Amino acid sequence: MELEPTLCTNIVTEFIEPSKDGYGLFDADDVLIYCNPAYAELYYYNSRDEFLGETFEHMVRTGHEQHRGVKIDSDNVDEFIAYAKTVRRSRPFRLFEVDFIDGRWFLFSEQTGASGELLVQIKDITKQKVLERNLETTVETLSQLALTDELTRVANRRGFVESVESELNRCRRSGASMTLALLDMDFFKRVNDRFGHQAGDAALKHVADLVKKTLRNYDIFGRIGGEEFAIFLSNTSQQTALEITDRIRAEIARYPLLYNDQEVALSVSVGLTTEGCNTSFEQLYTEADAALYQAKEQGRNRVIAFGNPAP
Ligand code: GH3
Ligand code: MG
Ligand code: MG
Repeated sequence: MELEPTLCTNIVTEFIEPSKDGYGLFDADDVLIYCNPAYAELYYYNSRDEFLGETFEHMVRTGHEQHRGVKIDSDNVDEFIAYAKTVRRSRPFRLFEVDFIDGRWFLFSEQTGASGELLVQIKDITKQKVLERNLETTVETLSQLALTDELTRVANRRGFVESVESELNRCRRSGASMTLALLDMDFFKRVNDRFGHQAGDAALKHVADLVKKTLRNYDIFGRIGGEEFAIFLSNTSQQTALEITDRIRAEIARYPLLYNDQEVALSVSVGLTTEGCNTSFEQLYTEADAALYQAKEQGRNRVIAFGNPAP
């Protein structure tokens, strides 16, 4: 169907000229032959006459010199122009997002005409982009919260297991050995009974802080149950794991919690297991739990390694 010339003129004068979206038409030599006022404004030009008749390359260079227009990540304008030339007109229709130096975001669409003209349409999507960013930050914060224990601010069971699983996957390729240690507070019910539940909570925080201070920052640590903590030491021999966990056990026994001017003596029993990386978390947990049971049986406030008699 042929469009009537008057209809075409009406579309331009009534819709494209006053549109808030920018429209620019480049000829086959990439010279701007038409743009509406919004297009010029989006680039901070007072009037479109300022760059009608200019090439795309000239516009990008002028924008770069005057610190406006498209943000060029590498700050290398020649590289940017070379890249843009390879992608412009590479397809009949291209849709992409662009951020500007002033922080605004635009959705660009480029449509290639039969004789190489290029119609560019630009829509300001800054509002949507800000919402998208806020949403991403919120999702990240919520995921972090879902993996963190509210009381002690260390990983909760889910966070701990997730980190260990990913470390196991990583370590599977290396064939190194690693240790899972379970720490259970000794006679913790008595702490609550004698000093109150709030003192018990303070004791859990106190212990979590002591453990965190002793560990290396790549060790994985979490509160995996009421008064149960777990430590995962990657790339660690059993001997080193015994030394580290016994140091933690001794620190907890040495530094009682001060609660309302009262000393609350605390201790933990530790069961650990050291395996190659081809084991599952469940297997490690079962073994460490069996060792923990022995540590309790043998009098508490001690570290027992799975499969080894008491030291
Ligand atoms: P054992 O040496 O055999 O481990 O003795 P225990 O008293 O620690 O063991 P038990 O499993 O009988 O009791 C654990 C106690 O830990 C019971 C529970 O009230 C307390 N507990 C669990 N979670 C919390 C918590 O978040 N805060 C406080 N204050 N106490 C907790
Ligand atoms: Mg327990
Ligand atoms: Mg206990």
